[in-house]
Amino acid sequence: MIYQSPTIQVELLEDNIAKLCFNAPGSVNKFDRETLASLDAALDSIKQDSNIKALVLTSSKDTFIVGADITEFLGLFAQDDAVLLSWVEQANAVFNKLEDLPFPTASAIKGFALGGGCETILATDFRIADTTAKIGLPETKLGIIPGFGGTVRLPRVIGADNALEWITTGKDQRAEDALKVGAVDAVVAPQALEAAAIQMLKDAVAEKLDWQARRNRKLSALTLPKLEAMMSFTTAKGMVFAVAGKHYPAPMAAVSVIEQASTKGRAEALQIEHQAFIKLAKTDVAKALIGIFLNDQFVKGKAKKAGKLAKEVNNAAVLGAGIMGGGIAYQSASKGTPIVMKDIAQPALDLGLNEAAKLLSAQVVRGRSTPEKMAKVLNNITPSLDYAAIKHSDVVVEAVVEHPKIKAQVLAEVEGYVSEDAIIASNTSTISINLLAKSMKKPERFCGMHFFNPVHKMPLVEVIRGEHSSEETIASVVAYASKMGKTPIVVNDCPGFFVNRVLFPYFAGFNGLLAEGGDFAAIDKVMEKQFGWPMGPAYLLDVVGLDTGHHAQAVMAEGFPDRMGKSGTDAIDVMFENKRLGQKNGKGFYVYSVDSRGKPKKDVDPTSYGLLKDAFGELKAFEADDIIARTMIPMIIETVRCLEEGIVASPAEADMGLVYGLGFPPFRGGVFRYLDTMGVANFVALADKYAHLGGLYQVTDAMRTLAANNGSYYQ
Ligand code: NAD
Repeated sequence: MIYQSPTIQVELLEDNIAKLCFNAPGSVNKFDRETLASLDAALDSIKQDSNIKALVLTSSKDTFIVGADITEFLGLFAQDDAVLLSWVEQANAVFNKLEDLPFPTASAIKGFALGGGCETILATDFRIADTTAKIGLPETKLGIIPGFGGTVRLPRVIGADNALEWITTGKDQRAEDALKVGAVDAVVAPQALEAAAIQMLKDAVAEKLDWQARRNRKLSALTLPKLEAMMSFTTAKGMVFAVAGKHYPAPMAAVSVIEQASTKGRAEALQIEHQAFIKLAKTDVAKALIGIFLNDQFVKGKAKKAGKLAKEVNNAAVLGAGIMGGGIAYQSASKGTPIVMKDIAQPALDLGLNEAAKLLSAQVVRGRSTPEKMAKVLNNITPSLDYAAIKHSDVVVEAVVEHPKIKAQVLAEVEGYVSEDAIIASNTSTISINLLAKSMKKPERFCGMHFFNPVHKMPLVEVIRGEHSSEETIASVVAYASKMGKTPIVVNDCPGFFVNRVLFPYFAGFNGLLAEGGDFAAIDKVMEKQFGWPMGPAYLLDVVGLDTGHHAQAVMAEGFPDRMGKSGTDAIDVMFENKRLGQKNGKGFYVYSVDSRGKPKKDVDPTSYGLLKDAFGELKAFEADDIIARTMIPMIIETVRCLEEGIVASPAEADMGLVYGLGFPPFRGGVFRYLDTMGVANFVALADKYAHLGGLYQVTDAMRTLAANNGSYYQ
């Protein structure tokens, strides 16, 4: 053994080829500080051993290296620039040491080689992948750029255009795609991987392969004619800005770094990368996006833990084949859990199946599925008008019309058809789970399972714990949601649960602006372009449906009369009473039509302005900051109340609920990250300026205390 540490072993194989194996405890290799220090020491030992003629890097796991240890990032990035620079320089010295070894080097890549893992393989002369390999530099998705030489080496290995695409999109690349652009030199079957890498090294030692020429290419400037380079970078900037937009600076920064470094040798090029990396690491956007990554892991980890208590779900049923029932059936079937779709009307069943078939055909057209797979998924959905079909279901999801009496009756009926230990969940969006549980003989087997529309697109499922729901019930529904490819968060029962409870105060803020003459299209523009929501409040209400919005608003007003009780007519009432229901009937705040290419189109409409003018008088302009404050303060305070009341268990789950359920702008990280970023004290001061607008604008005592103590929600 040449070197050994808890994460890395180096041994000498036949023909004086050294093998460095990444072998961290646990299921994957990560580039944490310990592994980096260990790699440095291993390389020193390798350098000192004059017998070694070549080096192969391998992994004892199913994957090579999944990337840097992102749990270390926030702490590290909070350090001073000088400390961060010294960390980046030290890390890069290790990769340079690997690249500068006095003999040929190769990486044998299986599974993920992402981020720091990808930067490791780029520092070797040869890269051999097996068919399981996935390679990429996902850093821009975290608001930063690669910091271990990725922006320097990748363009020199695969060309500037390809590297720009890899780095600015952050997508992983399959082995065969990596081969096409020359990121790897060969793709072989998994059992042949190590032997193939060793053979390549033997050929290099025997000078059949020119390893030094490959290495020199990585050490020098990019060989790009000036005009071509200018065109490449200018085009890339235009395209990247169009996709990433002004709120996500990292992809554009990556283009600039690659451009500036293109005329430089390795040392200078790395300096350019370091400076840009440090600048981005310090941004609020990086903090928010890294926070989302960590929160996502936390929420998934919780779901995985719950899985241990869960009852296995092999067969499911959904009651109601409407918008939601059809979506739930599709999602369950396409992720491998057969599902019975029960309705009381044959046309509804036909519509539900047609919707599923449409989604599947679209996937076949896009090359993401095959007709055989499509048939298999459709076979996994059993439409039925008869309760007898749900007899063997492990979980039944009720998704019939939003009417407490009908739901109560359906839930009582279901219990008579399923086995004693079957779990029953309701997809209600507003009705109390505790209230619905009253109609059941065994309320412990019951909870809420709140999907979002459209089910196949929205990642969140709120699992609502009623006062009698058993832990097994909650765990099983969490596990089923995860099996469906969704991210479940568990919340306690209250009107609106978590997501709708915080959404309606935001709509109340919007209504307040309109009541004073605010222009809904101007408000949407500010909330989309400046705050970063995918849709402004008027557009969102049109998508949700003004009838649904109107109904849910009444439930919230009843549930929280002090803050959400209504006095007089608001804009939602005006639309609803004038049968402007939104997209579903082609007119709401906006009007909807289909353009010449068959795509839905939204336009402003003088009629809706006329109705609002009759109700609230002439239009009045509001400053953007005022619009943001008046809509966001109520949502933020209500989110905090949900945490304080234990409706949601942690800031991490609340923020993921907002990002995955409502599309809260990821670059802001969620309400709690947003509060921490702006400073709780600054928020309290801002909210106090609007306190005269009513209860929704009044911060809680705990917020005031936190502000006074200069505290934050995330540690
Ligand atoms: P929908 O009106 O599109 O569908 C309801 C379906 O239930 C209809 O097909 C109807 O025939 C069927 N139905 C009625 N009584 C039934 C019974 N006794 N047994 C079986 N089927 C019966 O409604 P939807 O939008 O799909 O909403 C369903 C549920 O999901 C509601 O509770 C709603 O609040 C909730 N939800 C809706 C959305 C949304 O955006 N649409 C989002 C989240 C949750």
